[in-house]
Amino acid sequence: MPVDTEPNDPASPAGGILTIDLAALAGNYRFLRDRVGPGVTCGAAVKADAYGLGAARVVPVLHRAGCRTFFVAHLAEGAAIRPLLGADSTIFVLNGPMPGTEAALHQAGLVPVLNSLEQIAGWRALAQRAGTPLPAAMQLDSGMSRFGLSDDDLHTLLAEDAPLTGIIPQLVMSHLACADEPAHPANHAQHAAFQRLRARLPAMPASLAASSGLFLGPEWHFDMVRPGAALYGINPTPGHPNPMQPVVRLQARIVQTRRIGPGTAVGYGAGFIADRPSRIATLAVGYGDGFPRAIGGRGHAILPAQPETPLPIVGRISMDCLAVDVTALGDIPLAAGTALDLIGPHHPLEDAADAAGTIGYELLTGLGARYHRRYREDTLPQGDNG
Ligand SMILES: *Cc1c(COP(=O)(O)O)cnc(C)c1O
Repeated sequence: MPVDTEPNDPASPAGGILTIDLAALAGNYRFLRDRVGPGVTCGAAVKADAYGLGAARVVPVLHRAGCRTFFVAHLAEGAAIRPLLGADSTIFVLNGPMPGTEAALHQAGLVPVLNSLEQIAGWRALAQRAGTPLPAAMQLDSGMSRFGLSDDDLHTLLAEDAPLTGIIPQLVMSHLACADEPAHPANHAQHAAFQRLRARLPAMPASLAASSGLFLGPEWHFDMVRPGAALYGINPTPGHPNPMQPVVRLQARIVQTRRIGPGTAVGYGAGFIADRPSRIATLAVGYGDGFPRAIGGRGHAILPAQPETPLPIVGRISMDCLAVDVTALGDIPLAAGTALDLIGPHHPLEDAADAAGTIGYELLTGLGARYHRRYREDTLPQGDNG
């Protein structure tokens, strides 16, 4: 990053500015940890580069806030954050080892989640070669049909003599498919299946809930919760007020503005045609920044000084820019370089995601590499150990 950038700094070269509030992130972690209480471990999902926000910056902040258990999807993601964490922290690899990568995973200081009989066999073979048992988590399929041992798999596994020889079981886990819909019958069905399946294994710490599951109530917490989304400000209770602090602000700066007459087209495919005299601002963010093309003609931007005036995104999103109808601002001067919010205090992430026909998760993990990223930690207490 060549220069630190203040939005609206006329000397800044940035087109799109992504501001990540690390103090809010730490606050969200403490809020969730306090919610589950002292008997339950609060881990953190930091896969997909901490949901697009930058694992290298996010992980140390979570550690300072007291987090010691981290979840990534891939070996490479875990290896990237391992040097940021001491021996006091565990990094679980949710997808488990790809065949033949068991030794590399272990050497990288990571702990696999074993999802299948094949993965269990691979891990036991590594332990045998190493001459020592090795830590692992076990995943059970409680009804999502995605990862983990099924009923039949457990049956096959437990028919062996000493089926877990070579494994130091650290965690038994499963994942809820419908936790964001508290009344969905799948939740209780999965809870019951998880209880039934894990009773067949030796006793070990258990985990079922991610962000939304954590809000279903204490009987969903078991020994560990694994929130991701809620840490990053995504609403874990859709349809209800968001209990989390926003972490992400996305701003796009004006390149130029123009006045157009009725009948004038804007953007590729003449996707928008003005029906009145209009003022159009071209902003320097497009789908090449990961801002969804699907939001063209549907979403809006906000001038922070005029938060009650949504400014419609008009026409198609281009690779490097998008057009906003700023007619409603009248004659307010809009100098080149002025920053409008695409996600911000008056324009929540969920609204932008809705307009794009997607969810906050996808919007965040799709955030591109081209934004100028500002990490705000000025309000972060030093030596914060929770
Ligand atoms: C991604 C993931 C999480 C975190 O989920 P959120 O909904 O983001 O809180 C937890 N557990 C597993 C297995 C996951 O894949």
